[in-house]
Order: sequence, then C-alpha cells, then structure tokens
Amino acid sequence: MDFLFAKSNSIAHLAGMTNSDLADIFKLYADLSELHGGNPFKIKSYAAAAFRIDKFPQALFNLSLQELESIQGIGKSIAQVIVSLNQNQGNWPELNKLIEETPEGLRQLMRIKGIGAKKVAFIWKELGIENPGELLYACKENRLAQAKGFGQKTQESIRKQIEFLFANQHKFHYASAEPLALQLLKTIQDEFTEMASFTGPIRRCAEVLECIDLLVATEEKEELAAQLMAIPLLNNTDWDGEFIQGKLGSFPVSIHLCSSENYMYSLFMETASEDHLKQLPAEPDDSVNWDSEEDIYASIGLSYIEPELREGLGEIEKAAQNQLPNLIEYEDLRGPLHNHSTWSDGQNSIEEMALWCMQKGYAYLGMADHSKSAFYANGLSVERVYQQMEEIDKLNARYPNFRILKGIECDILNDGNLDYENEVLKDFDYVVASIHSNLKMTEEKAMGRLLKAIENPYTSILGHPTGRLLLMREGYPINAKKMIDACAANGVHIEINANPYRLDLDWRQIDYALNKGIWLSINPDAHELDGFLDMYFGTLVARKGGLSKEQCLNALETDELLQKLKRN
Ligand SMILES: [Zn+2]
Ligand SMILES: [Zn+2]
Repeated sequence: MDFLFAKSNSIAHLAGMTNSDLADIFKLYADLSELHGGNPFKIKSYAAAAFRIDKFPQALFNLSLQELESIQGIGKSIAQVIVSLNQNQGNWPELNKLIEETPEGLRQLMRIKGIGAKKVAFIWKELGIENPGELLYACKENRLAQAKGFGQKTQESIRKQIEFLFANQHKFHYASAEPLALQLLKTIQDEFTEMASFTGPIRRCAEVLECIDLLVATEEKEELAAQLMAIPLLNNTDWDGEFIQGKLGSFPVSIHLCSSENYMYSLFMETASEDHLKQLPAEPDDSVNWDSEEDIYASIGLSYIEPELREGLGEIEKAAQNQLPNLIEYEDLRGPLHNHSTWSDGQNSIEEMALWCMQKGYAYLGMADHSKSAFYANGLSVERVYQQMEEIDKLNARYPNFRILKGIECDILNDGNLDYENEVLKDFDYVVASIHSNLKMTEEKAMGRLLKAIENPYTSILGHPTGRLLLMREGYPINAKKMIDACAANGVHIEINANPYRLDLDWRQIDYALNKGIWLSINPDAHELDGFLDMYFGTLVARKGGLSKEQCLNALETDELLQKLKRN
C-alpha cells in the first residue's frame, strides 16, 4: 500500500489491513503530525508503534481492544486507533485531516532518504518549497547547502535522488509488461495476421522499458486499425493513419501498421537501436521486399544478429568477422544456484525446492541461505550451518539421482571480510559473497569491500555486484572493469542476479567479463518456488550481454560444476 503516492485523500477503501498496512498508517500519521508541528511525545510513540507493528508476528487488525491491550508494546491509545480503524473501514478522521492539509508534493519529499519530516517542514516553511521539482531547483542553485542543518553533502545526495526519481518516472520493468505484451501480440497473430512482431527495446529485451512497440503488416490499414483498437486489452487508443498509440493496461503502447512488402525492412529498422543503425557498413535497400532479416544482414555483408544484441556495442564488428557468440538458451540451464529456503528468509523447505527442480528436469539445486550477520533475514549461525548440511546429506541420500549443493550467501562485512571463519567457509561446496549492509558508500569504500571479498580464497561467486534495484534504488558505485579484473585474477565467478528488479551484473559488463575468461552464473535468488522462473529474465539479459552456454556456470552438469567451483 503506497499512501505517499495515493491520490485519494481518504483511506476508507482499506477493509482488511495487514500489519504492514497498519504500520504505514501510523508512520504516515507520525510524519504528517511532525510536519505540522504536532505533539512530539505523541509523534514519537506513534512512530515507535509503526516500527513494532510492522515486525509483529501475529495479524493485529481483527483483534479486540482487550486482546490488543494485552500485547506488550501496543499501548492503550494505539490499541484504540486499531479498533476504530477496523470499525470505520480503515478511516481515521484525524489522519484524513492531516492528509488534506498537506500539499501532495510534500508527501513525495518525505520519501527521499536523508530528509525526515522535520527537514521537510523546514524546507516547506522556511524555503517555500512544496514538491520535488522545486527542491531540485533549490539544490541546483545551492540554496539547500546554505540552509541550516543541511550542508553540501546532504544537498548532493538529495539532488541525486530527485534526479533518479524523475528520470525513472515513466519507465517500467520488462518483466512487469511482458505477460500482457505477449498476450496482445498473440491476439493479433491469432485473429488478424502472422506478420506481427515486437520491435524496439522490448524486442531487444531491454531490462527497463518506456513503451511497448509492435509492427503489424496489412494492405487495409484503416480497417485493421479499427479492428485492433477494439481489442479489449487496449485502451485510450488514437490512430494517426500510421500508428496506433494507446495504453496496454497501464503501459504505453505503439503499434505501427505497414504494408506487407515493407514488413521485413521495417522490422529490421525499428528493432535496431540508433547506434546499431549508425554503425551498419551500408544501408540496406528499402525498395526490396525482403524475405527475412537474415537476408537483409547478408545483403550488407553481415551474419545474422539476434535482436537482443542490436545495441551498437561491438556486435557489428563481430558479425562482419562471423564471430558472434552462440547465445545461451533458457533450456540450457541445468539448475539454480543461489536460493533461499525456510532456513533463512525463503518460503519453502529445501525438499520442496528440490522436488520442484527435479520435476523441471534440473540436475541440481544450489542452496545459498543468508549468513549469520543477516539477522533481519534469519541468517544461519554456525551451529545452524551444520544442521542444514546434515539435512542436505539426508535429502541427497533420499534422492540419489539429484544433487543438492551446500552453498551459502555470505555477507561481505563492512571491512570486506566474509561472515564466517575459514574453518566454516571451507565446508561449503561454494560461497556466494554479497553486500547487504551499509549500501550507501563511496566508490572507494565499495571497491575496498568488494576487492577484499574477491581476494578471499573461499569466495566462489560474487553476488549482485552493485546492489541495485532497477527504477527504485541506484546501486552503490563501482569500477566494474577493476572488479572484473580482480575476479579474473582470483578465479571468482560472477552472478547475473536474475531477479527482474536486479539483473545485476549489468548486461553491458558481460562482454568485458567474458573476454577476461570469467564464467557467469544465472542465479534466480529464489525465495519461493516461483522465484526459480526468474532465470528466464536472467537468461534474456545474459543473451543481451552475449553469454553462451560455454561460459555459463549453471549450464554445467553436476560434476563439471563442482570441479569448476573448486578454488585453489
Ligand atoms: Zn543477496
Ligand atoms: Zn539472496
């Protein structure tokens, strides 16, 4: 539930609330009262309640006043608010009033890290700023740095965050749009014409999209346009004689209607990135009715280039020399490494996960639960590490044709050390080393931690190298080349974290890594059974970066994999 961006000034629609919804409400109440100069004692107690409620193991919303009051840490007044929220379908008049009195933009400002309600109040009242745009302008004019309690560093951090927010406003994750986009394409192909395809960034499998582009061939543009606009999946459509623009669900969509003799040429032109087109050795003939894109590439002296690669990042040179990689396929994968079970913060037991993998025809399942410092994720104490290993031994005896590997996702601590002593590390089949703490750091600090972890003789795979969450959190800054060089020098493999919000290592670094001889692992980081399917999205960006099966760790069979995971 995202109250801060909710347009509605009422919370009346919330019937059944989870603890996390309740926590959001109390937090919002505390923030808004602070913004409006409310009673500090009350603010503190509501903020503390929000924190506790969010972590509370039992659902609180439907409990009686008596039951709520008997719970330690839920005071009388908090209990009363919860009960009245329940009785009034989620309405809390006092909160509604605060929301009404607060400009929308100020609530967006409170989402920015490093400025709490108190600072937003100052910005609002002293500087007259009411939204992120005005604040960005103030940062650029250096006004914030001069204001009391801010300084140059805070201003810089705020400026970066707002720019990131703005830059990503109209973008969406590939994975969030793909199911609907495929449904639309299939509808068009089944009901109208086979000559229909994605083009542009979605055909190139870009990790983040701004529009879903399609190309459809027809001799009757007007007629087909009217039929396509009647497809129920589409809304807000507009036809200009050439393109249908509109929405597919909430995603912008653009459908180009062309003649069938122009179809292949248009497909070729509209799929490529600008850089790809600029670098072509010659312009293909647009007067020819091409049979295939293969023919078009051949006509300008190039071997066929897969759509994912058409970014202008070296693929044309390779195509000219017939040296393009044979891209990996989802079906080449033999098992998932880096997964979490109920031993740490996953939803399924190791056995459930193993059975899923067996059914899928995989050869192995690599466990990598969290290590001991990840207390928020129920990380494994040394004692529990060995209990888990025992369980894995038993399961391996029960399922002799399958192999569960004893891995760990080991935290890289603030000083770059790993989270267990060597005595423990030596007993794992492999160690995925990842940074989860103190993500806000300089490149120097991040590289110090990473390089130390890479040099640790027990590190097998470097996990999500930048910690980024696409469209939500910029990763910590790294020098990717230096990091990859260090991995090459130390025999460390790198993961492509396949979670569609991460896709980290970034595909743009893959070619460099492969040239350095690095092996990559397409890791789902699954926390539940469905999470395994993310390897599909990992495979798309792996292909985009030029990965072939021959340099993919989890395309290996079990014995070769174990061999490859051994460090000298
Ligand atoms: Zn992780
Ligand atoms: Zn993980």
